[in-house]
Amino acid sequence: MIKTKRMLAEAAAFSRPFRISNGRKFRLSDVDPGDTRGLKSKQDAAKLLERGREVLAEMQDRLYAQDRWALLLIFQAMDAAGKDSTIKHVMSGVNPQGCQVYSFKAPSPQELDHDFMWRTTMCLPERGRIGIFNRSYYEEVLVVRVHPELLRGQKLPPRLITKHIWTDRCEDITSVERYLHRNGVIVRKFLLHVSKEEQRRRFLARLDQPQKRWKFSIHDVEERKHWNDYIHAYDDMVRHTASAHAPWYVVPADHKWFTRVVVISAIIDALAELDLHYPRIDPDKQKELDAVRKALAAE
Ligand code: ATP
Ligand code: MG
Repeated sequence: MIKTKRMLAEAAAFSRPFRISNGRKFRLSDVDPGDTRGLKSKQDAAKLLERGREVLAEMQDRLYAQDRWALLLIFQAMDAAGKDSTIKHVMSGVNPQGCQVYSFKAPSPQELDHDFMWRTTMCLPERGRIGIFNRSYYEEVLVVRVHPELLRGQKLPPRLITKHIWTDRCEDITSVERYLHRNGVIVRKFLLHVSKEEQRRRFLARLDQPQKRWKFSIHDVEERKHWNDYIHAYDDMVRHTASAHAPWYVVPADHKWFTRVVVISAIIDALAELDLHYPRIDPDKQKELDAVRKALAAE
């Protein structure tokens, strides 16, 4: 086991400064998107990430074998903040059998015929697995809040559309996350925080570099015009849904190499709190196995 005390302390040191368990006074503008906590180079970060991947792979093996806990990782961010590449780099050492990734886009007509958590509930991770939501039910208090016409398209009975709908939704989300926590699903939420200037640079890179052009979408540039509305919605979301049982990590995202270190550290920190171990065999079962072993060896 390469999980050493030093590595766990390192994971805590790189993730806890960004963890928010009580969002009462939260303001996104207080978080520096360019922060790297003193990490100076991409190379140092790459070494940390590589070690983190090895630890995570071992922890995930135990999680899977033990088959008791589940881990749900939720990613939210502005466009081009690096959700996809963070998921790719952080999870690349994990056995794909123990991991499920779901991306949530604009809801289909069938999904709109249900309550807003229906589609994500269907995708919750099984025990022993790590589930990743690339966007999630949090879009219901983000994009839907920024574009009120989306709410009007949700087929809700009109009298349920009140001034309090956003805080009501946050309250319902918090309750569901508490319910998941009580059922052995560990929830960790990541808000990747990119600056407007860095987003501009990444959009330009998508336009300029042929291998990145497929990622460019006019829609993303349109959404950029609503930047301040999104910041307001993020502030409110974190204030109302950060909790001890399902904390937010507000992760600086102007340097992708640093984002990855924080995210993998937070996952390791969360798993370190669990009593992960391979299933223990009771003495009767052990006797049976010893007998089978003897018989096989004698064949
Ligand atoms: P990429 O980084 O590849 O652009 P993405 O997550 O932005 O990935 P897109 O297909 O570009 O994927 O966009 C998905 C869109 O779906 C986002 O604009 C998001 O806001 C929107 N969306 C997600 N959930 C909802 C929802 N419940 N209601 C309305 N729109 C939603
Ligand atoms: Mg997009």
